[in-house]
Amino acid sequence: MRDVELYRHLLGMEPPWTVTRVELGLKEQRIDVWVGHGEGLRWPCPECGVELALYDHSEEREWRHLDSCQFKTYLHARPPRVQCPGHGVRQVRLPWAEVRARFTTLFERLAIDVLKETDGLGATRILRISWDEAWHLMERAVQRGQLAKEKRGCARIGVDEKAVAKGHHYLTLVCDLDRATVEYIAAERKQESLDGYFRSLCPEQLQGIEAVAMDMWEPYIQSTLARVPNAPDKITFDRYHIMSHMGKAVDDVRKREQRELRAAGDPTLSGSKYLWLYAQENLPEKHRERFAALKALNLKTGRAWAIKESLRDLWSYTRLGWAKRHWQSWYFWATHSRLQPVIETARMIKRHLANVMTYFTHRITNAVSEGLNSKIQTIKKMAYGFRNREHFKTAIYFHCGGLQLYPATHGIPG
Ligand SMILES: [Zn+2]
Repeated sequence: MRDVELYRHLLGMEPPWTVTRVELGLKEQRIDVWVGHGEGLRWPCPECGVELALYDHSEEREWRHLDSCQFKTYLHARPPRVQCPGHGVRQVRLPWAEVRARFTTLFERLAIDVLKETDGLGATRILRISWDEAWHLMERAVQRGQLAKEKRGCARIGVDEKAVAKGHHYLTLVCDLDRATVEYIAAERKQESLDGYFRSLCPEQLQGIEAVAMDMWEPYIQSTLARVPNAPDKITFDRYHIMSHMGKAVDDVRKREQRELRAAGDPTLSGSKYLWLYAQENLPEKHRERFAALKALNLKTGRAWAIKESLRDLWSYTRLGWAKRHWQSWYFWATHSRLQPVIETARMIKRHLANVMTYFTHRITNAVSEGLNSKIQTIKKMAYGFRNREHFKTAIYFHCGGLQLYPATHGIPG
């Protein structure tokens, strides 16, 4: 079999396309395959499908294809153009690549699989592509997925902010809590950040929102109140965010106490910051002994921690009445603790209590949010080198958007 025949079969080229030439570059470890077509054919306009005679050819272009063994393989062709009465001079669709792609469809499909399973750097090594090319592939995949995605409403959404790199730049994320996907990303964490999402929905979709989980963050609250029908019954300040506020209060108590102790030459609390932030059941084994000893001391931090852990129980009640009773005794305890950060946080939660208790209607658990959060943390580390909000967004949509990322193949067998 001649090498052109071999490659015609390998590439699955169908008439009118054939392989005209194959070159093996041993030194460069690459194979170049030229593709051409017969004479006297008619080509469909890419816009309207009207069949037309050949007008001319564009400049020769090159597409990276799947490797042949360890050899990088490139396809070359001069794309035919037609002159459509309705659309002017246009390049016809090519069966092996999407418009403006630098890679063949099959290479893109492989690249998407690799990019999904590795960090960006790993993908560039495995695929032997540059950073820029990796981002180009991801951006195209996300764009493709978003175009193909049908506009849909979500019954239960979570709204969250994410810090971008180390600066004070934020993104606002809207997640579909039933499908565990990130549906929408906007710049900043302002009222209009979230407004943009609600504006993209039709009245039925807005009506269809049953619950909105979020932090006690005024711009998000205002946006939801202004745009979602019956929002006061639907907003739920979730456990994840409330417990983060309590964690912060415990940490503030610790900082003050540690300062006082250190001034008196007592290092008891040094290096204990993270021990107090764990939920009791998540404390790693290796820290248990020290933590038990710390708790046994009569520390302010220890008291703050116990109050924080007791608040966590609020969400374990199955009935609203019991939860309310728990809340009342907890609130009394917290506000009589003489620990200022704890008192302030307790009061803040109380001001928002009605929409903490909506949990007992909607029962939004944190599993989905926490899963997405940890995934996004990983993505952030990956995209960190860029300090680039657009790249961060692209990567979140790529990994968490639940999008159909693959280009369609046009009859080329894998
Ligand atoms: Zn046309």
